[in-house]
Amino acid sequence: MYKLNEKLVNMKPYDPITENYKIRLDANESYKNLPDFMIKRIQELIGKMEFNRYPDPYATELCKGFARYYNVDPALVTAGNGSDELISIITGSFLSSGEKMIVISPDFSMYQFYGALSENDIIEIKKGDDLKVDVDEVIRTAKENDVRLICFSNPCNPTSLGVPREEVIRLVESVDSLIVLDEAYMDFWRKDQSLLDVVDKYDNLFILRTCSKALGLAAVRIGFAVGNKTLTDVLRAVKSPYNMNTVAQIIGTALFEYPQHLDQSTQEIIDSRVSLESMLRQMNQETHLFEHIYESNNNFVMIKTDLANDIFEALKKRSIAIRNFGRFLRITAGYEEENRAVVEALREVAGELKK
Ligand SMILES: *Cc1c(COP(=O)(O)O)cnc(C)c1O
Repeated sequence: MYKLNEKLVNMKPYDPITENYKIRLDANESYKNLPDFMIKRIQELIGKMEFNRYPDPYATELCKGFARYYNVDPALVTAGNGSDELISIITGSFLSSGEKMIVISPDFSMYQFYGALSENDIIEIKKGDDLKVDVDEVIRTAKENDVRLICFSNPCNPTSLGVPREEVIRLVESVDSLIVLDEAYMDFWRKDQSLLDVVDKYDNLFILRTCSKALGLAAVRIGFAVGNKTLTDVLRAVKSPYNMNTVAQIIGTALFEYPQHLDQSTQEIIDSRVSLESMLRQMNQETHLFEHIYESNNNFVMIKTDLANDIFEALKKRSIAIRNFGRFLRITAGYEEENRAVVEALREVAGELKK
């Protein structure tokens, strides 16, 4: 009889919200679809595609478009089927089975997920109540345990906090571990906090970027890893040759033809988050529904409350989806009217729960 491997028996398929909600503020996507002129351009390009040919294994044009927009050397860029795939490849290929990796929780769950699947020995450093990263603790833990890989997001999903650039540099320079610095939300923070401009100086740094958040392309699945030439050559060697299908390459390449649109739509999302955050703070001053609202550096707001489950359910009844972490709630910024609706609903919920 066939027996499932022990690490697999209790695994459950990923279960995102799939029911129909009037308002979806749970997944940190961009709330806007692409504009019509871009959709037209994409349709035109796909009309000319050679469906019978395998894709370009290095997604050359797509990587060039990314490199132009972010001002990096295209020779240091590797595209993946979402940054998810790149996390999976790096945790699976850059460590031998049983080697140690650090995650700093709470953080993006995929680092731990893929690390465990690849039989890496995961050391979980827990953030305190302020949800900040203690860089000294990370350095100490890495050195004492011969850690081979450290993965974290900056600014962080879900904490919404950012580690300043100088601190990240200090970490990279202090350890012999490979660092996967996931900058999925950096477009929403400050360009001068990114390490993209110095990535080539380090032999132990991959920076991840994605088209799924500020750039509004979550459906298409495009992510990027940027690292020095040695790391890039290895990543290109170990990835599946045709990991980026031609449709995704065409759409992503077209996206980067419109840098002004990307800048403008990123700014609109930032404005929406600023407005959501300030409405939530105002509401909370009046109702004291939440224990704490964390300072946001991305496109969502992170909230601490013991009432997370109750609030989550009450919003669900009103057909509003947000993300529930048990003791925390995360609300993605949406259209102005969606932001208003969720804050109004929370005001009502505060009245109900306080009775
Ligand atoms: C959403 C997100 C990503 C993006 O993943 P894709 O696979 O590119 O869609 C990566 N890292 C973090 C921390 C995220 O929240």
